[in-house]
Amino acid sequence: MHRDARKEILKGLKRIVVKVGSSIITKREKRKNEWANELSPNNVRLLAQTIRQIIDRNCEVVLVSSGAIMAGRERLNLHRSDLSIPEKQACAAIGQSHLMHTYEKKFEKQGIKVAQILLGHDDLGNRKRFLNAKHTLETLLRHKVIPIINENDSVTIDEIKIGDNDTLSATVACLLNAQLLIILSDVDGLYSRDPSIKVKKGDTPMKIIEHVDCINQKIEKLAGGTMNKVTVGGMYTKILAAKQTMSFGIPTLIVNGFDNNIAEKIYESKSVGTLFWAGREKIKKRKHWIAHTLKPSGKITIDSGAEKAILLRGKSLLPAGVLKVEGKFNFGNAVRILGEDGKEIARGLVNYNFRDLNSIMGMKTSAVKNIFGDNFYNEVIHRDDLTLL
Ligand code: GLU
Repeated sequence: MHRDARKEILKGLKRIVVKVGSSIITKREKRKNEWANELSPNNVRLLAQTIRQIIDRNCEVVLVSSGAIMAGRERLNLHRSDLSIPEKQACAAIGQSHLMHTYEKKFEKQGIKVAQILLGHDDLGNRKRFLNAKHTLETLLRHKVIPIINENDSVTIDEIKIGDNDTLSATVACLLNAQLLIILSDVDGLYSRDPSIKVKKGDTPMKIIEHVDCINQKIEKLAGGTMNKVTVGGMYTKILAAKQTMSFGIPTLIVNGFDNNIAEKIYESKSVGTLFWAGREKIKKRKHWIAHTLKPSGKITIDSGAEKAILLRGKSLLPAGVLKVEGKFNFGNAVRILGEDGKEIARGLVNYNFRDLNSIMGMKTSAVKNIFGDNFYNEVIHRDDLTLL
């Protein structure tokens, strides 16, 4: 059953978000009397090989990488554990360029071009900036460049920080409709007992949980806190990330990032790490929620061509197919979709508010682009947000 789920995920895998924790690209060195973590070019080289293997399987990769603060500490020789926020931000500023320089060098050896994207909470919370980020990322991928994303730590104050890159990677996976989020961690996956709690006599041996299809309190408890001083989130934030992607029907796989054959093992559906996935059922539930739980705020009448494309060819609804817009709805609201004969055929979540949709209905994508610049959605309603009735 677990193997089947893994095989199922491999089908149609076109885009993966890979999250790399600081510990994966770090090595621990003893300096004078202190242990210090420093960026390991060799680990980045090994990571580049893993990414190459994924790309060779005809899959786009977006990397979310931590390590800026750690790399900055190394440069400034600031290894104390009680750094102030401005000190951490300064470390992030100095470390980020060091990090990217290393990525650039090592990925180039694998024939991979990279680009840096620094995101903050504001970029993801504001629709215009959210779309901007999405379009930039899509464009980079089209040009076969791997975006390497990190939080914009040096200019973000603590209260509005995304906080950890596990959360950031889950958001990016949802933003880009990725089919899988892989979290490269320094442990093998989620253990059946919290590894930070001392083993008592009679305790069952600790093993890796292969598959989690529902994140309940029991699973959250197993995650415990972080044990590694280099990382920020530990297993707990990874579980939260998995929860976020699962609600979008996207699986998350937590695996050991020090395993150099990890890409191969994943592609052979070997039982490595912990897979978080509720199967396609979750999507069905979401579709059910769109059609039956949300109250529609308006109606969109479409032409017969668009109706056929939606009903028979599994397509999204484009502006060109819209004939009439009724009601006052905003971006993200549920609406009814009616055929030319006035019969309701589907419901979905709109990417445009009623005013914008009124001004672009019937238009070709290129004309819509002329109006909204790059801040536009191709689809009025994306297929994933559409439920046929
Ligand atoms: N953005 C931080 C850094 O690059 C790390 C955050 C995290 O590891 O979750 O140093």
